[in-house]
Amino acid sequence: MKYKAPRGTHDIFGAQAEKINKLEQTSRQVFRKYNYGEIRLPTFEAAELFSRSIGETTDIVEKEMYVFSDRKGRQLALRPEGTASVVRAYLENKLEQNLPLAKLYYIGSMFRYERPQAGRYREFFQIGAEYFNNPSPAADAEILLLTKDILETYGLKDLSIHVNTLGCLKCRPKYKDEIKKYLKNEKDLCEDCKRRIDKNPLRVLDCKKDSQKINNLPKIQEYLCDDCNNHFNDVQDLLKQADCSYIIDHNLVRGLDYYTKTVFEVRSAGLGAQDALAAGGRYDNLIKHLGGNDTPAVGFALGSERVMLAADNLKLSEKTIKNKIILVAVVNKDLSKNAFNLVAKLRKNLDEGSSLAVEGPFSEKSLKSQLRLADRLNAAKVVIFGEEEYARGNVILRDMSSQSQQEVNIAEIEKLIFKS
Ligand SMILES: [Zn+2]
Ligand SMILES: [Zn+2]
Repeated sequence: MKYKAPRGTHDIFGAQAEKINKLEQTSRQVFRKYNYGEIRLPTFEAAELFSRSIGETTDIVEKEMYVFSDRKGRQLALRPEGTASVVRAYLENKLEQNLPLAKLYYIGSMFRYERPQAGRYREFFQIGAEYFNNPSPAADAEILLLTKDILETYGLKDLSIHVNTLGCLKCRPKYKDEIKKYLKNEKDLCEDCKRRIDKNPLRVLDCKKDSQKINNLPKIQEYLCDDCNNHFNDVQDLLKQADCSYIIDHNLVRGLDYYTKTVFEVRSAGLGAQDALAAGGRYDNLIKHLGGNDTPAVGFALGSERVMLAADNLKLSEKTIKNKIILVAVVNKDLSKNAFNLVAKLRKNLDEGSSLAVEGPFSEKSLKSQLRLADRLNAAKVVIFGEEEYARGNVILRDMSSQSQQEVNIAEIEKLIFKS
């Protein structure tokens, strides 16, 4: 083999493709219920958009972005996340005026140069949403419940929801200074954290290597301004009213600079405690920071491969999300055109949203190997065109699970298949 997919990328086909489609379909249905509209975004943007929004000192911008210059020397980057692009689109297309409500979702691949591991790729798929211009705690709660709803509708029931607040520009600096003081006295922090103390001390809170030392640090809750404190309490009240259980996690800071107030992560017990399936939060300063009006916003993103891996661990049956297949087979080649005609007719008359798929005929193969294929495809039924039966205006309808078959009139076949 001469060519291989680049390290950290993967081909998605077969059952995995079914699963990711199912996840995306489920998400679209749930987004519709919550009144979010789709936005399709470019895969690359000006590199500066990301460094400015995500933050110069974050891992993403420092080490993980795919940056390149095009033929005119423009510095571009493959998008490492979706929020910056949605904000850019919101400003560029004046969505504040042009949409009655700016509630947008996106589905697509993102790119980060990370060490590949289970469920983590350098090109990976995300599903996310952003809710602009609503400062209310209800918007935070809505985004959180939306995230949970998508994951639960997909079949994941072992979710734990971690929430925290990061304060605002009024109260966070005081807390940052306090943390810095504590950390300066801490002798044996890991190398990354030593570097972060001055530039981005909050990031130390989610360091896995130093988790022991971090537990003794002051908590942000003691430093919140009234506005941030009330906001966090209101979000929690709304979650309780919606019967959504959650854990307050003081060490949850998220890797991105732009968050304010609420941040959250949704984890799956089956995947291990540290692994987030989805994450999000409020980012009230980002839009102004990128040149817009002062506009509050809140959003989330989930990693499709992570979610699929969690679903694998729960052994969500592949069959339950697979189409039921009807295979049309022929005993000999002379009837292949008649069989093809039936296939075309059945496909045309399938209801929209039907879970049936029609396949065949494979006239070059023997009947035996057509039936073997039906087995491997997990087909529900096979319609067999035999010469003698066809002369009587009939075909054979074979039920693959019971292995029983009957001769039926060809005019009846549609009714028989669609009703079962
Ligand atoms: Zn505050
Ligand atoms: Zn550390």
